[in-house]
Amino acid sequence: MIPEQFTIAHIAEILKAKSFLPTPNSVIKMLLIDSRTIINAQITLFFAIAAQRDGHIFIADAYKNGIRNFVIADPTYAEKYPDANFLLVQDVIKALQNLAAHKRKLNDLKVIGITGSNGKTIVKEWLYQLLAADYNIVRSPKSFNSQIGVPLSVWQIEPEHTLGIFEAGISKSGEMQHLAEVINPTIGILTNVREAHAEGFANGIEKLKEKLLLFNNAELFIYSPEYVSGVNIDDLPGKNKFSWSLSSAADLKITFIEPIEGRSYIRAIYQNEEIECLIPFIDDAAVENGIICWATLLALGYTAKEADVRLEKLTQVSMRLELINGVDNCSIIDDSYSADISSLAIALDFLNLQNQHPKKTIILSDIYETGKSSEVLYREIAALLIQKNVNRLIGIGSNISSFADLFEMDKCFFERTQSFIEQLPAIHFVNETILIKGARKFEFERISKLLTQKIHDTVLEVNLNALTNNLQYYRSQLVTGVKLMVMVKAFSYGSGSFEIANVLQHQKVDYLAVAYADEGIALRKAGIKMPIMVMSPEPSAFDAMIKHQLEPEIYNLQILKSFLHFLPVDIQHYPIHLKIDTGMHRLGFEQDDVKELLPILNTDELKVMSIFTHLVASADQVHDEFTTQQLHSFDEIYKQIADFLTYKPIKHALNTSGISRWKNAQMDMVRLGIGLYGFDSALTSKNLQTVAVLKTTVTQIKVLKAGETVGYSRKGVMPQGGTIATVKIGYADGYNRAFGNGVGKMLINGKLAPTIGSICMDMCMLDVTGLNVKTGDEVIVFNNEQTIADLAKQINTIPYEILTNISQRVKRVYFYE
Ligand SMILES: *Cc1c(COP(=O)(O)O)cnc(C)c1O
Repeated sequence: MIPEQFTIAHIAEILKAKSFLPTPNSVIKMLLIDSRTIINAQITLFFAIAAQRDGHIFIADAYKNGIRNFVIADPTYAEKYPDANFLLVQDVIKALQNLAAHKRKLNDLKVIGITGSNGKTIVKEWLYQLLAADYNIVRSPKSFNSQIGVPLSVWQIEPEHTLGIFEAGISKSGEMQHLAEVINPTIGILTNVREAHAEGFANGIEKLKEKLLLFNNAELFIYSPEYVSGVNIDDLPGKNKFSWSLSSAADLKITFIEPIEGRSYIRAIYQNEEIECLIPFIDDAAVENGIICWATLLALGYTAKEADVRLEKLTQVSMRLELINGVDNCSIIDDSYSADISSLAIALDFLNLQNQHPKKTIILSDIYETGKSSEVLYREIAALLIQKNVNRLIGIGSNISSFADLFEMDKCFFERTQSFIEQLPAIHFVNETILIKGARKFEFERISKLLTQKIHDTVLEVNLNALTNNLQYYRSQLVTGVKLMVMVKAFSYGSGSFEIANVLQHQKVDYLAVAYADEGIALRKAGIKMPIMVMSPEPSAFDAMIKHQLEPEIYNLQILKSFLHFLPVDIQHYPIHLKIDTGMHRLGFEQDDVKELLPILNTDELKVMSIFTHLVASADQVHDEFTTQQLHSFDEIYKQIADFLTYKPIKHALNTSGISRWKNAQMDMVRLGIGLYGFDSALTSKNLQTVAVLKTTVTQIKVLKAGETVGYSRKGVMPQGGTIATVKIGYADGYNRAFGNGVGKMLINGKLAPTIGSICMDMCMLDVTGLNVKTGDEVIVFNNEQTIADLAKQINTIPYEILTNISQRVKRVYFYE
């Protein structure tokens, strides 16, 4: 049995760690890897995990926020904090895994382990929906399936739980063995496998075999023969097996799938009988994941009839937190699908990093969490809300309402969602960020619909996780100590303003840069406090720039003189940046200007924060000699100015492709631009993730007879006739007219359809002859399959222009998973 609680001394023993324990009886209930997401410091153990940056550097921050228990690999930290407990181990991640594996061993419960290339999270969430009536379930939060996510998930197991559902994902060889020890599933599920190119592995078969290691001790293995071809049947794991297939013999042999009114009707042969079910989805991936769940229910012993009843009630799974513009100048964070404390903590972090409104409100339903009394649970939540700077709570549900006294903030409570909605006109929401967080049965999507502005059918979805990933990638490329400036000009290359800046500020980037003062002022008004450089400071905006502490790029003597002239006399050391022209011939001082420049800089009114130049062809090998020459002249001019000043300004030259190709020229800082948004012409590997996806919908389908034409000037001809789809995006949205007449293509249901006829202002037409397309279908203009680079190639431009052309009337939706 589990000991009542784990003390730090007990954990030291489990990890066989060398320990320094001034308070060996401290009880540990929570594990933490990110010093910014503390819930209850007193009972938390911090693991100094080295990700992109060494986790040890966050110990100071964690300590400051009350953490007194640490697992470390570098002993020097223990000496710095003599009143804290330290466990010294060789490998911090392994220690985290060992601790979780230990807890797993103590709990003898049924555990479903899920792995595969796609569908893990959906299958996990659906099994949770299907089995929650019969089990007390603990499961991975969101898609926690990594070397770190898995142990954090498994650590949640408590004696009350009767079923665990955990997902596991791997990215390189050797990883699954660790996860298998932590999860130790009794039932294994292999979802969709696509291993054609298995990065980090010798080949697809090797990767598949490694995935199967998860199930080595499983009693039951659920799989499709199609996904294990290449592995000998006798080598498949599991004492018992249950197979499903669309094409070959299997325990559950699917014989028929047909979409009917938005649902899929499926028939199969099972135990020599024909059985059927209805799954409330029609897209291929959902149907496949539904079949996997069907197979699982049958394999667990549910009757075909019972399985059908449950499958019909499956609901959409959204792991996303969406940030959307709301009514009355509010920002809405929509997380209306789940409510447990770990996902609440994640959502509150996202709420807390929003600075654009003075006030933060949460609309929160009853929280379901087993293994804790309601009082303890709501006490914890109340503390969490305070810690994450929530100003107002609107609680919905009888459970949370009965603990109203625990919450010390502006608050009100409602028994049911309906009563809240009826009262809505009397409740004021204005200029605030609102997190909507509710368990599924409270149907909070009704609330989010009422509070968000109607989203037009064309949206640019911006994935903030991908953006953070790209940021971390470039950080990992920097020499220690090199600072990072991020270019957020032109509405962050079309992706957004404060929404992106909030993330960058939270990630502790050193500088932001915008093109015009207006952009900088908008960021300041949205609460962005970090330094901001303005690249084209127009004299008419000097006043506002000084008021908002924006730092001008000074690029010639005239602008320097007029800025100095403008500066109020009582201001000292006002930060400016000097731009040096070494070959771009756009803006900047040249060698000949230096002589006149130096004496003017000899004033206490200004402080030269940085001196920089811009490379004209950092991506282009053909021009490497020119780049070298640019760097050389920059060195010279920098030296002349820095020698004259009595301090050393930050020196910088590299843009995105420069970071990737000119490692030796990082100097004191680099300026990251388009790489953050997922494109870098100097990178061939898959280090970057797609940040922006542009989507629209089909408004109408038309069938044309032979010889009929499409659009203005009869440009689109259909000699054989065919089917066309009208979609809601045109050149006024930023879909260039050059994409017309078949040059551009869009993805509908996974297939590419070319444009036909000219692009109109607000719409265009696609040739969808032979494709199964209907009104309302989603249409992808660009994503990770058809990229902005592909679009750029189609019309002979560059990805920068594709992104920045997307007009402001296209709604942006930001999400965070
Ligand atoms: C836009 C810009 C950058 C960033 O360029 P990317 O190619 O997008 O990385 C860097 N420096 C200056 C001066 C810029 O104007």
